[in-house]
Amino acid sequence: MDPIFVAKPMLPDRRNVHDYIDRIWKSGLVTNEGPLHNELENRLKVLLDVPVAKLFCNGMTAMLAGLHVFGFKPGAEIITTPLTFAATPHAIALGGFKPVFADVAPDTLTLDPEAVERAITPNTAAIYAVHVYGTICDNAGLMAVCRKHGLKLLYDAAHAFGVTVDGAPVGTMGDATTFSLHATKLYNTLEGGLLTAPDGDLAQRFRLLRNFGIVDEATVSDIGFNGKMSEVHAAIGLLNLDIYETERTFRRNLRANYDSIVSDIDGVRPQVKQPGVVSSEQYYLLVIDEKVHGRSREDIYNALKERGIHTRRYFWPICTDFEPYKDYPIYSTRNRPVVEAVKNSLLCLPFHSGVQDVHINAIAEELRRR
Ligand SMILES: *Cc1c(COP(=O)(O)O)cnc(C)c1O
Repeated sequence: MDPIFVAKPMLPDRRNVHDYIDRIWKSGLVTNEGPLHNELENRLKVLLDVPVAKLFCNGMTAMLAGLHVFGFKPGAEIITTPLTFAATPHAIALGGFKPVFADVAPDTLTLDPEAVERAITPNTAAIYAVHVYGTICDNAGLMAVCRKHGLKLLYDAAHAFGVTVDGAPVGTMGDATTFSLHATKLYNTLEGGLLTAPDGDLAQRFRLLRNFGIVDEATVSDIGFNGKMSEVHAAIGLLNLDIYETERTFRRNLRANYDSIVSDIDGVRPQVKQPGVVSSEQYYLLVIDEKVHGRSREDIYNALKERGIHTRRYFWPICTDFEPYKDYPIYSTRNRPVVEAVKNSLLCLPFHSGVQDVHINAIAEELRRR
């Protein structure tokens, strides 16, 4: 059995890439909103069913643009979850704001609106919520908090590409939504990011931010950075659009397979199922209750690793365990935050089309062992 990793980049056929490279080299248009970039941007706007979709060179720059566009005061507090990739609080901090951490709900592991309320001060400007593992946040609950306190609501949808909630596209929730198109994400452009919003008027602001604020040859209207996606990355993105649904379907079946394995194992539960939500199929998450199961997450992680199956203890450590945020409290409705209790029980299984029956059987065997 070959070793298997938690993620494997979805890559198009190399011959098709060469065709695009030939076109790019012939045209001499390699970046700065080239034809492939614009084609990809338009196709993503249609696919994701959003009024605004702007491409960026990576998810982090899309996040910085999303945070900048609303004109929050320097140093303003932005409430987020500690159960996310480091990029989320980093974007807030690098944007010149202060990340404030609130607890998650025990079932969805997304921001708990009640915990968020406890974190609010007169300096709070926004909530930056994360659809972590592709589980969708309590939008109604967070919106209610935002309306009550006059806050903006941003979503990090790095794990939620292609999700719909009761038919509505995830990219129109809140005031702005950021996606990562990094190689580890199902739909990827190798490196890439996307910023969407329900307000069409923001399109031009997003464009200016990603291109130094340049309006035309003689006019710079805004302070901007370089967040542009190259034609080569856009070409990969166009080709990956053709294979994206096939990979997603493979993963949907793999999820059903994993689900049926864990359904009769006490102490192991899969990620919560949300009625009306069409999943991104980005991750397969298990929550392992050591007291019930008998083995700890570490035991299972190490045993699988010895067999060449590399799972990930996502997201552990959590952001407040990292040096830059270690003195930051986690606002919660409980004495011990949910996230502190759950962080040592999370395990993401290999989840991509490279996973074969031998891997699934080995995983099943290891999860059943007591
Ligand atoms: C991947 C990821 C990002 C960052 O995206 P990049 O494209 O790598 O900059 C942000 N947030 C979350 C939750 C992620 O998983």
